[in-house]
Amino acid sequence: MRYSDEAVDLTRDEITQMQTRLLRETVERARGAPAYADRLAGVSTADIRSPEDVRNLPLTTKQQLREGQPEGFLAVPKSEVVRMHYSSGTTGLATAVYHTRDDLYRWSQVVARGMLAAGVTENDVFQNMMGYGLFTGGLGFHYASELIGCMTIPASSGNTERQIHLMRNFGSTVLHIIPSYALRVLHVCEQQGIDPREDLSVRVIFVGGEPHSEQLRRRIEEGFGAKVYNCYGLSEMCGPGVAMECVEQHGLHVREDHYLLEILDPDTLEPVPPGEPGEVVLTTLRREAMPLIRYRTRDIAHVIDGVCPCGSEHVRISRIEGRTDDMLVVRGVNVYPIQVERALLDIDEVGSNYLITIDRPADLDRMTVAVELSPEVFTDDMRALNALRERICRRLHTELDIGVDVQLHEPGELPVSDGKAVRVIDRR
Ligand SMILES: [Zn+2]
Repeated sequence: MRYSDEAVDLTRDEITQMQTRLLRETVERARGAPAYADRLAGVSTADIRSPEDVRNLPLTTKQQLREGQPEGFLAVPKSEVVRMHYSSGTTGLATAVYHTRDDLYRWSQVVARGMLAAGVTENDVFQNMMGYGLFTGGLGFHYASELIGCMTIPASSGNTERQIHLMRNFGSTVLHIIPSYALRVLHVCEQQGIDPREDLSVRVIFVGGEPHSEQLRRRIEEGFGAKVYNCYGLSEMCGPGVAMECVEQHGLHVREDHYLLEILDPDTLEPVPPGEPGEVVLTTLRREAMPLIRYRTRDIAHVIDGVCPCGSEHVRISRIEGRTDDMLVVRGVNVYPIQVERALLDIDEVGSNYLITIDRPADLDRMTVAVELSPEVFTDDMRALNALRERICRRLHTELDIGVDVQLHEPGELPVSDGKAVRVIDRR
């Protein structure tokens, strides 16, 4: 029988009722975790009458998760845990996240819902180019793809030549990949004389794992001749699948029957109105092993107002516009790396790789952006290069409101990565 997911058709009223009930259940379950027992002692679930009442509950931070290691947030007997993931420690110590068997099934469901919405069927060949292992990117999509019935290729990340070989040999139609790595694959295809639009069968690509701009998405779409869909998640929730784009490609539908969304001003912790960016704060609604209440993700996004033309009434968020951790303060101005990418990729002559360096010679912050040019336009005509550099400087100045030094590089000169791209070096 074909897998389907009815929750996608819930009306706003049904979502509200369901969330109220699930929020009560979550609070009751969370009391079983040592880290929450005291903090929830004064909370009566009878006082939870709507999803907005979540605001009377305590927030949970990454720091608290760290302090609660290894089992402070575990709300079920350990015998019920069937898997542990360990979240990437890019911004500090890693934290363990536990799953029961039902947690894993529901995780597959939320990802499968997004794959179905993008038109994936059991006839597709799915090549999963995300890392398998403690990182949740690989396994999250793996089981969803099998739930739908795709032929699933657990390629994992890296080894670009083999990835291309697998795509060609087995006619992969659907990929899951980190966006900067997708560009690397396109680059290697070009070096090998392979035209992905002609020689490969890819039609749908799910990207996630790092913030990226709309311009970068369009480049991947053009390169592969495929539709690219954004996927958002974090290991503290489940992994990929917390929110995914539908065919409209305008905002990511949050799985509101699994997660309760708030967008808060990171300083005042008050809700911001739809359309205004703030910190994504999530409460799990069905998690058994490790319910998390008002978890501060440090990701920045905004709610897209109005009902999506696709018909789904699940709320939409924008692409992740940055992380509170990623924000750079340069000469007193707040800068997100994604703004640099957005400005650069607006310029046709710019290739896909760039590197931001910040240092502080003579007590003043200096931001330098190294930019690779695209192979088609690379020239050694100094006058043309200077004019181009000027144009990039002006575009960056408009976007960031600060002056930036720009260095132009030949295609292939900047370092590349098979995993998440390193875009910023802060030497201050
Ligand atoms: Zn939609």
